[in-house]
Amino acid sequence: MRDVCIVGGGVAGLAASIFTARAGLDTLVVDGDDDESILARNASLENYPGFPLGVDARQYLRLVREQADNAGATFHEGRVTGVEPVDEDDLEEGFVLETEDGDSLETRRVIAASWPDSEYLVPLDVGRIQRGSKYMISVDEGGRTAVDGIYAAGRIAGEPHQTIVAAGHGAKVGLAVIHDSDANFYHDWVAPEGYFTGRGREVPPACEEIDDEERRERDDRARERLLEAFEEPLDERPTMHPSVAEDED
Ligand SMILES: Cc1cc2nc3c(=O)[nH]c(=O)nc-3n(C[C@H](O)[C@H](O)[C@H](O)COP(=O)(O)OP(=O)(O)OC[C@H]3O[C@@H](n4cnc5c(N)ncnc54)[C@H](O)[C@@H]3O)c2cc1C
Repeated sequence: MRDVCIVGGGVAGLAASIFTARAGLDTLVVDGDDDESILARNASLENYPGFPLGVDARQYLRLVREQADNAGATFHEGRVTGVEPVDEDDLEEGFVLETEDGDSLETRRVIAASWPDSEYLVPLDVGRIQRGSKYMISVDEGGRTAVDGIYAAGRIAGEPHQTIVAAGHGAKVGLAVIHDSDANFYHDWVAPEGYFTGRGREVPPACEEIDDEERRERDDRARERLLEAFEEPLDERPTMHPSVAEDED
């Protein structure tokens, strides 16, 4: 039984996984094998804070996935087709995710972070909202649905269709899952040595103090990785809208 399964390895799902995995929760990201983040269709991502002239969206996605992997999240390739409670009378027992390939994945909590087609959640009655051809999910401020243990993040939760919003919402829902898993105080922070202890305070749970040598080492590693990632352009074109791609064939 995993602590949390995240349906969808796009921006929101990966951001959620970075937080839950760093908090020590056993985190599995399930992502459709032939599917991809809608962001792969972007031609140049120019409104994500931190990239003054923009960034290749596909390179950005690769780096977010690598970050989730570094944080300790694991990945399963497969399209989720259904989610059912292990015991209908006791949701504390968790849920089983069924995939198109016939895999069954058990988890205590589920974060739906897929595209806005929430078909796989229909049997659970989570509170779906139809918007045109899309089916979003109704959530509270922490991404909690009407069903205990089921959350939704990103576009499927009705958030504005922007990358930074999906990432931020994923992080917020990840924090709600951590909170509901009984971590009362939680700030995933790295602070300079002495920030807490210099005032006679204990380093709070989930916070870390590092000395200057460690800070420089981490900074070196981070810069080296980014320089390597952006040394060459990524030779991948944006994915075209399926109807246009069909016409081109
Ligand atoms: C052409 C285009 C250009 C864009 N340009 C910009 C831009 O410049 N700036 C900006 O801020 N935003 C842009 N966006 C919007 C941005 O891409 C989205 O808002 C963002 O990707 C939403 O993140 P998400 O995690 O909610 O969904 P996604 O990133 O789409 O992730 C959903 C994931 O769920 C997976 N999935 C779906 N169904 C299942 C299932 N049943 N089981 C398992 N996995 C499943 C998919 O494989 C996918 O990886 C653009 C979008 C498009 C289409």
